[in-house]
Parts: sequence; structure tokens; C-alpha cells
Amino acid sequence: MANEILRSIPKLDLLLGRAAMLNMKERFHPAIVKLCAQQYLDELRQAVLAGRIGSIPAVAEIETEIINRLESEDYFHLKHLINATGVVLHTNLGRAPFGEEMARHVAKVAQGYSNLEYDLAEGRRGSRYSHVEKLICELTGAESAMVVNNNAGAVFLMLNTLAKGKKVAISRGELVEIGGSFRVPEIMRESGAELCEIGTTNKTHAKDYIRAMDELGAEVLLKVHTSNFKMYGFTQEVLPKELSQIARERDGILLHDLGSGFMFAPEALGLREGHAVWSSIREGADVVCFSADKLLGAAQGGIIIGKKKYIEKIKQNQLTRMLRIDKLSLAALEITLQYCHDTSLAAEKIPVISMLTMTEDKCREKAEKLMHLIESRIDGCITRLMPVQDEPGGGSLPGLMLDGYAVAVKLPGISPERAEHMLHCRSVPVIARISKDSLVFSVRTIFENEYEEIAEALEELIRTVRGKRK
Ligand SMILES: *Cc1c(COP(=O)(O)O)cnc(C)c1O
Repeated sequence: MANEILRSIPKLDLLLGRAAMLNMKERFHPAIVKLCAQQYLDELRQAVLAGRIGSIPAVAEIETEIINRLESEDYFHLKHLINATGVVLHTNLGRAPFGEEMARHVAKVAQGYSNLEYDLAEGRRGSRYSHVEKLICELTGAESAMVVNNNAGAVFLMLNTLAKGKKVAISRGELVEIGGSFRVPEIMRESGAELCEIGTTNKTHAKDYIRAMDELGAEVLLKVHTSNFKMYGFTQEVLPKELSQIARERDGILLHDLGSGFMFAPEALGLREGHAVWSSIREGADVVCFSADKLLGAAQGGIIIGKKKYIEKIKQNQLTRMLRIDKLSLAALEITLQYCHDTSLAAEKIPVISMLTMTEDKCREKAEKLMHLIESRIDGCITRLMPVQDEPGGGSLPGLMLDGYAVAVKLPGISPERAEHMLHCRSVPVIARISKDSLVFSVRTIFENEYEEIAEALEELIRTVRGKRK
């Protein structure tokens, strides 16, 4: 059955030889026309195989679709989309979004050459860390800092440099899986560190760490933030302050994978949870690492801060070359760190911070605006304001829910599942959630300059429904 349908997909060469396509080749490079056509035919094939469609559109319809895609530059696989899920650091949706000025700065560095590894004052080779090291140290109070391509790399590098061949004590409550394929015990093994599990899942005491060092031969203490879950009830963990003292008294070192953190006290942002990256350094941790594109809100990267002697050693590790951060992420990091010198500046310019600190009232106001736009543009759908619980996401602040608002849209004549799928298939996809019979657009993660696009998307849906009825 599927084979028969597949056979009715037009041949690429025949399609490209038709008048409409030849016409397009005058406006777009033939290679792009071909690529775009091929992509669409592949999608049709996939849709048939997955059972999503039972017949192939007519050739004229196929042509129209390809022309539309060319005209709207919709032939990229990786593309911009609208996140209406209310999950701020959505791991599947690219995590931290850039603000306008951040994006402009990164584009400027990307276009042409830069002084990435050139010391302009001295006229000789420079270090790629030089652009951000001083900023990070100022903001965190750390002696020294460096950055790599992501925090997973930072953890690995930190362990490989400072704990290889050594016993590393870690609480059983912190032997976590962070997502994807990042599991702390495996990362430790790969890095050459020897795992020394202590305590229990729910409770680990200072005496467990002391025993690990005094009796089991542990030389390193590792603390890991349980990024994507939180334990309640009969639990106990030992904080960096006490751990650093235990380590210091025994000539050991304390490493802390913080996962994520702010450059501010969370209270300064009006948040009930979370921590500043410097708190662990102040409490005596020797080396701390965290992600650049979680709560910091920059591009993918891993930041390592701590005592100079350890950071220097990390910089000299051969693996550093393999894990190095690229210039675009570095440019994004520098501008983000500059914004972090002031909480209100950060909240204005760094989207992640703006979204996390967006008040319920502000969300309501934003939702009303979107709702009015939808109502004024489209008749035939039923909208309503809906209180929602948004999430920080990205394994950053487990357990913290953010009170927000969404616009719930009911489209008569079309199931929310089908509407959701159609929203995904646009040139600018919109990722919304479904609640009962409605599509839900949570405004916390929607930029206001995306409202028009959402209204347009809903107009398209309504048009499709009406078209089918005729
Ligand atoms: C997210 C996280 C990592 C991995 O960081 P990436 O930047 O995604 O590579 C490592 N450890 C902890 C505790 C995390 O939360």
C-alpha cells in the first residue's frame, strides 16, 4: 500500500524540468531550487512511511509548496521557531535564546575576522580566554577562570586534570543522570577518576566524607547539583562550606559541578530558588563549573572558575584543545557577562533573565495583548486567558514553578493535535501545548515581535479548516 503511494511521488528530475520550476531557477540558484524540491519530496516520503498521509498531492500543489518555501526561505533544516511552551530553557528548542543586541554583536564578530587569538596591543598571538577571564573573575570573585564548549566538557576536563587516578568521594544522592547521555558515574570513569560512593540516596553526612578521606583514601571531594530533580522529606546533603573545610584539613580538593547558576543572588532577581555561582567559591570550593547557556543565558559553553593553580593546570591539559569554545559562543558570553554587572541591565538584555523574572502581572498583560490581537484578526476561534505554571527548564531550578499566563485557543472544526502538527510544519514553526480541546500559548517565552506570526499561523489554520468545508 505504502509502496504504491510512494510510487506516485513525482521524480525529482521531471519536477525540476517543469515550467514553474524552471521559472524559479531564474530567481534562485538552481542548486537551491533542487535542494528545496528534494527536501519536500523526502518529507512526503517520510510522511507516507510514517502513515501520516495516505495520498500524494497533485504536481501543481507540490510546485506551489516548493515555490512558497523558496520565497519564504524555508529550506533550512535548523531554523528559528516560536517557543510557546513557557519552558524558558527548553533543551529541545535550543536552550537560551539571544536578545537582539546579543545577536547583533555575535553576527558582527562572525562576519569576517576577529582578534580571537590575537593580542592587539602587543601585536602577537593572544589567548581566546582573555576576552572573558577578567569579566568572570570580577563577577564571581574567583582567582582564575576559563571556558570550554559546554559544561559536560568542563566537568570532564576538571576531573581529568585534577582527579585522574585519584579516589573521588561523591554522595550517592548526587550520582545523577543529567539527560542525554551524561551520567555522573560514567563521566567519572571516562575521565580516569576512581569513584568512591558514600552515604545513601537520601542522606549523606559530613562524617561520610571524612571517613572517605581518612579511611578509604579519597583525595578529592566532588559535589554535583542534582539539576533535574529535587528530593523532599527525610534528606540531608553536606554544603560546600563544610565540604571545603573537610577537604582543606586533609590536603584534598573540593570540586563542584554546579550545573547552572546566576551571577546574582537569586533574591536580587526576586527568585525563591537558585544560587549564585560565586557562593560556592566564597564557601571555599577549589574549582567550580557551570553551564553558560542555562541560567547565565549566553550561548553553549562551560565555565570553570577557581584557584589559579588548578585553573592553570586545566588550561595546560591537552584535552582543552578538543573542548575549546568557538568564537561565536565566546562573543555571546562576553556581552552577556557585561550585562551581568547590573541586575536590571541583565533583566532587560538577557532574555533568560527577563523571562525568569517576568511577573505574573506582566505575563497577564502580555497574554491580553496577544489575545486581543488574535481576536481582532481572526473570527472563528474561541480564545481565553489561562493561568499557567511555567518552568525554568534545562535542569536548572528543579521544583520551581513560575506563575504565568497563556492564551488558550479553541479552533472549531479542527482537533488540537492536527492544529499542533500544522503549526510545526510552517516556515516559522510554533510550538504550543495542548490542554483538553485547546492550543495553549504561554506568553512568558514568546517575544512580542512574534505575536504577528502567531496570529498569521492561526489565520492559516482557520483558512485550512474553511477550505476543507467547502
Ligand atoms: C546541565 C548540566 C551539565 C551539562 O551541562 P551542558 O552545558 O549541558 O553540557 C552537567 N552537570 C550538571 C549538574 C548540569 O546541570
